[in-house]
Amino acid sequence: MGDNNKTKLKLDSKVTKLDLITPEETTNTVFSPWTIEDSENLYRIPGWGEPYFSINAAGHITVSPQGDRGGALDLYELVEALKKRNIGLPLLIRFSDILADRIERLNACFARGIARYNYPNVYRGVFPIKCNQHRHIVEALVKYGKPYQFGLEAGSKPELMIALATLEPSLSEKNNKSQPLLICNGYKDKEYIETALLATKIGHKPFIVIEQLEELYLAIKISRQLGIEPNLGVRAKLSTKGVGRWGTSTGDRAKFGLTIPEILTVVTELEKEGMLNSLQLLHYHIGSQISAIGVIKDAIREASQIYTQLAKMGANMQYLDVGGGLGVDYDGSKTNYYASKNYNMQNYANDIVAEVKEACEEAEIHPPVIVSESGRAIASHQSVLVFDVLGTGEVPVNPPEALQEKEPLIIRNLWDTYSSIDVQNYQEAYNDATQFKEEAITSFNLGYFSLKERARAEQLYWACCQKILQIARQQDYVPDDLEDLEKIMASIYYINLSVFQSVPDSWAIDQLFPIMPIHRLDEKPTQRGILADLTCDSDGKISQFIDLRNDVKSVLELHSLQDCDKLGNHKPYYLGMFLVGAYQEIMGNLHNLFGDTNVVHIQMKPKGYEIQYVVRGDTVTEVLSYVQYDAEDLLETLRRHTENALQENRMTIEESQRLLKDYEQSLRRYTYLVDDAQ
Ligand SMILES: *Cc1c(COP(=O)(O)O)cnc(C)c1O
Repeated sequence: MGDNNKTKLKLDSKVTKLDLITPEETTNTVFSPWTIEDSENLYRIPGWGEPYFSINAAGHITVSPQGDRGGALDLYELVEALKKRNIGLPLLIRFSDILADRIERLNACFARGIARYNYPNVYRGVFPIKCNQHRHIVEALVKYGKPYQFGLEAGSKPELMIALATLEPSLSEKNNKSQPLLICNGYKDKEYIETALLATKIGHKPFIVIEQLEELYLAIKISRQLGIEPNLGVRAKLSTKGVGRWGTSTGDRAKFGLTIPEILTVVTELEKEGMLNSLQLLHYHIGSQISAIGVIKDAIREASQIYTQLAKMGANMQYLDVGGGLGVDYDGSKTNYYASKNYNMQNYANDIVAEVKEACEEAEIHPPVIVSESGRAIASHQSVLVFDVLGTGEVPVNPPEALQEKEPLIIRNLWDTYSSIDVQNYQEAYNDATQFKEEAITSFNLGYFSLKERARAEQLYWACCQKILQIARQQDYVPDDLEDLEKIMASIYYINLSVFQSVPDSWAIDQLFPIMPIHRLDEKPTQRGILADLTCDSDGKISQFIDLRNDVKSVLELHSLQDCDKLGNHKPYYLGMFLVGAYQEIMGNLHNLFGDTNVVHIQMKPKGYEIQYVVRGDTVTEVLSYVQYDAEDLLETLRRHTENALQENRMTIEESQRLLKDYEQSLRRYTYLVDDAQ
């Protein structure tokens, strides 16, 4: 509807200036239809989505959870099918096969690196539980990781408890070579260390990584008491500087790890106790999402030196644990921008293997088992957040009415500006229009302009902006002062989501995630918008999007809603946010009491897919209980109030029934907006 009119308008205006347009331009800009390839380029899917996401002929996003080796499913159809099963939006969809594929890829990359450099030892990955602690995920990781002896990393006591209950203990002899590792990081008290030590007795392979000197003394004391020989590691504070958001995880002032003098203290103390044999592992973690391969190389070089020196001092060194940091290319640019990374998984594995091998050869030390704790790179791709658009708010641009006689000077100036905008003067025209609009507002504030005149001035101003923007978009170079124009003219898309609950990093640290419509991709997105969420917080919005040309863009290309009526009804329009499987879920908060979203787990089957699990999102009753309200009490209070109103004839019995029914129903339902029409 609206779209067609616009295209027609454009056609007409082109026709009048036909002499200026070459035939080629005509076909490109006016007649060539929008294709799914155009959408692919616009939203950069190949950059961030391969091999899992692409677009099919229907213009829908497809998901190939097994990469190039398995079938694909239509994401839009899946959402529709789930809605029919009463699983509404917003909805987090997890693809278990993607998780399996990520584990396989990481292990394959290290296997290739090990083969390429003839590395005489193996790789053993662990998943840092903090990255996504949900039971179905950790269980799936352990299951899919089994062929690779993929282990777990715990950063706290609760995570240790998850790990102990999820990893399968080995039933054969102690320290069985094929037992997955259990790396115990984080702050440790007596109970933590005791639990970890005793876990060896039931067939686990825990490594107690000393992050503070006190932990060393605790570990010595407790292992003596229990008569269990510990597997110890040390976490080193490297001097290598991280980059980007998490750059401060290293360096002398980092929160975690031991300085070199402290590591030496560990060695002397263990030696004194006759326990130097227990020290087997060196660990470091220089931060998450390391975007530059150079930093990764610097860190592994420094760590390899520490490792070989420890071995030479008599520690029983066997494992080098390089921590996390393996990045995800959120914007698909393959650069060292913080939302990207300038290397791939294979480069990462190769560089680590090569550096460790070289350092060990030089020092004549047997190379260690290489351990990594990749969280983000394993868990991000499997989750897609799908949400619907509730409505849009647009800057009102209508073609302005022609100038009347005796209109005020400011209006006439605006009109003249509007009428004369062209490629030569559009920047100047923008400055003029802005100035005249400000003058109009001053006149209004001083009482010289009526409300109608102010409305007229604003309309003319928006019309100028619209015309200028259309010209500016065609230019290769846009002057700085026009950059804000996109933001000023952006439509607001109201989304059924809480940014604080579902993508906290978008709000807290401006992290970028790819966002795009999951359907209508065979259709040109004619609008540019920002996203505003359901919370009453002005920070509850997304106004930065991935971009190739510049680092970020401030508006996202979107489609206009179809079949809108005055009540805001329209055809559903679904957006997807991708690569959200790491860190977002657990750090989300209950701002405005929007709770957890619905979650489904999808697994591919030879014929189609299967819904493995459905985890219902919070109900209103549940979120209210988090803040100590009891639904029954609330309902009872409301019932009493309606009873009073009834007795005083302020309300009819029907009204009271209806209020109580609505209230009761809301308590049982989802915290997000529900579309009762469907
Ligand atoms: C957070 C963390 C990780 C995971 O880092 P990613 O960049 O997500 O791979 C690994 N190890 C430790 C010690 C961590 O704190």
